[in-house]
Amino acid sequence: RISKEPPNIRRLDESVVNRIAAGEVIQRPVSAVKELVENSLDAHSSSVNVVVKDGGLKLIQVSDDGHGIRYEDLPILCERHTTSKLSTFEDLQSIKSMGFRGEALASMTYVGHVTVTTITKGQLHGYRVSYKDGVMEHEPKACAAVKGTQIMVENLFYNMSARRKTLQNSADDYSKIVDLLSRLAIHHTHVSFSCRKFGAARADVHSVGTPSRIDAIRSVYGVSIAQNLMKIEASDDDPSSSVFKMDGLISNFNFVAKKITMVLFINDRLVEWTALKRALEIVYSATLPKASKPFIYMSIVLPPEHVDVNVHPTKREVSLLNQEIIIEKIQSVVESKLRNSNDTRTFQEQT
Ligand code: ADP
Ligand code: MG
Repeated sequence: RISKEPPNIRRLDESVVNRIAAGEVIQRPVSAVKELVENSLDAHSSSVNVVVKDGGLKLIQVSDDGHGIRYEDLPILCERHTTSKLSTFEDLQSIKSMGFRGEALASMTYVGHVTVTTITKGQLHGYRVSYKDGVMEHEPKACAAVKGTQIMVENLFYNMSARRKTLQNSADDYSKIVDLLSRLAIHHTHVSFSCRKFGAARADVHSVGTPSRIDAIRSVYGVSIAQNLMKIEASDDDPSSSVFKMDGLISNFNFVAKKITMVLFINDRLVEWTALKRALEIVYSATLPKASKPFIYMSIVLPPEHVDVNVHPTKREVSLLNQEIIIEKIQSVVESKLRNSNDTRTFQEQT
């Protein structure tokens, strides 16, 4: 200790504040893709196409056929805290959209170069405009466009050299992006998704809108997973403990995999819930000791006021009321499903 004098406290420059905040919302290329695709879903798109160059560091491009963005809104589109989805804090309780904070696009402009092309219904042409540090770089230019919005993010983290270096070394964001789109595609089955590397002829994720979840899983994850799934359902409508509905597809004893795949949606939000994942892994290894790690798709619906969506900068986690009760209930449903199917199998093998 050299001096006991307290250091001066200064106000940070707004540009520094914004860049720091942006680095939390957009942690890596896959976080940008998640935000962009969620915006496309919020815009009621039926088709979402993603192109990625250099693991997303050179280019991320998300094109949709949603409702587009009004010309008048373009000047503030990428400012921090501008949104069409939320107006009062109370709205957060009943929010149905994925977005609500108006931070995603702004964040991208603080850590990359963003270009938006969009057209709204009934217009003869669209508009294209680029953004940097939250502001439009020029007046929107009229351009040809068919339907919806295309957002391009170039040179992500160009101004955060440490981040860029660690990401360049790991170079696995493309597989994270493919994984993300696979998960979204099997939940939002009415939307067709594609994801490809820039210049590649073949898409690595390709789903066509279908009413059947199994069909979607087959086209995204392959036949061997799709043919080894069992339907499960659970619900609890006792208002004194918890109110929830769950439906899902879980792998059976024939399924082989080295690690667990758990695709979980809570109120249509793709989230991680480690406690539930662990609980189900335990059920599998106790019930089917020789079986491999499971594939689990699950969609849980809870009253919106039981879910706090605002607990994590990337919205990756949510916080729930009555977590233990829900886990127990799901655990027991999965366990009895596995036992029943296992008994049927033993019986069939004997006869
Ligand atoms: P949020 O999603 O939290 O509202 P964003 O920064 O992600 O914040 O987006 C800001 C606003 O831009 C959205 O509220 C929406 O009105 C508009 N927007 C963004 N992406 C799209 C899109 N693909 N199609 C239509 N509107 C969009
Ligand atoms: Mg958003």
